[in-house]
Amino acid sequence: MKKIVSAGEIVVEIMADQLDQSLAKPGLLHGPFPSGAPAIFIGQAARLGQPAGLISAVGEDDFGQMNIDRLRDWGADVSAVTVHKGRATGTAFVAYRADGSRHFVFNIRNSAAGLMEIGHRAQALLAGADHFHVMGSSLFSETAIAVILAGIEAVKGHGGTVSFDPNIRKEMIELPGMREALDQVLARTDLFLPSGAELFIFTKAEDEASAVAEMLQRGISAVIVKKGSEGAVYHDQHRQVTAAGFSVQEVDPTGAGDCFGAGFVSLWLRGAQPEEALRFACACGALAVTRKGPMEGIASFVEVQAFMSDATEGSAS
Ligand code: ATP
Ligand code: MG
Repeated sequence: MKKIVSAGEIVVEIMADQLDQSLAKPGLLHGPFPSGAPAIFIGQAARLGQPAGLISAVGEDDFGQMNIDRLRDWGADVSAVTVHKGRATGTAFVAYRADGSRHFVFNIRNSAAGLMEIGHRAQALLAGADHFHVMGSSLFSETAIAVILAGIEAVKGHGGTVSFDPNIRKEMIELPGMREALDQVLARTDLFLPSGAELFIFTKAEDEASAVAEMLQRGISAVIVKKGSEGAVYHDQHRQVTAAGFSVQEVDPTGAGDCFGAGFVSLWLRGAQPEEALRFACACGALAVTRKGPMEGIASFVEVQAFMSDATEGSAS
């Protein structure tokens, strides 16, 4: 089976108890939960039985240990996750707002995650990788950008493929070097996995069809647009495939896109048709939102299949 590698932040997530709770005041919080977009993605891929590994860095502390243990328990290759004494593992505090948006306090760039590098273990991991996945959130510093571009070059250099989930807010685009980095990643992307407005970050097009057409013209093989509870749409040069969302009780939306992406990429690498990969990915995303904590809803291959055979689609509310 093909091996997937990603590089980027490992963090713990700590979430506010109440909707609209201020993070500027003391209050009840839940967590720490293992997190970080590329870690969620690699965790889900590994849990599906796909060979998968992560290049990252954590502090020598409980938060780092929890993340490493979780990934290792699920069968992910953590040989290129380095452990640092002088810095703490990254953190993300999140509060959900009544309008569905999220407010974050991040400590990533100056956490241990900022120390990730292409050492000899990362080189060995990349040498055995067939596919590299990029999370836009992982392009958080010049060092991180260099690690990710090196990962892409290594995997593409021996005939591998690349997927890219922009996973980024529009404000982040204005960070120094970000636009260039995103363009460089996009130029090497085979599978592009934006959600909602992210499709429009790279184009002046104002409607979805023209934006997708423009992305495909750039040489991307397939564009998969994630639409929350409504499911997702797959586009390539020849066709468009739509999958309705599965009907579930949403407890915590964070991580859905990462689990969806891992589901889609894993099945695509196994040679599945887009219809099958898309439906499977939607099931991974739907299961992800049923638990509090971004990795707590990650399901195994057998669990996802069982969910799909029992579930209803298309009437998500
Ligand atoms: P995030 O960045 O928070 O991880 P995202 O914005 O990248 O998420 P979403 O579109 O929210 O991605 O979710 C990805 C996929 O997960 C959707 O395409 C859908 O298939 C599934 N999904 C997400 N939320 C729900 C929900 N409430 N009910 C059913 N399926 C859902
Ligand atoms: Mg996302």
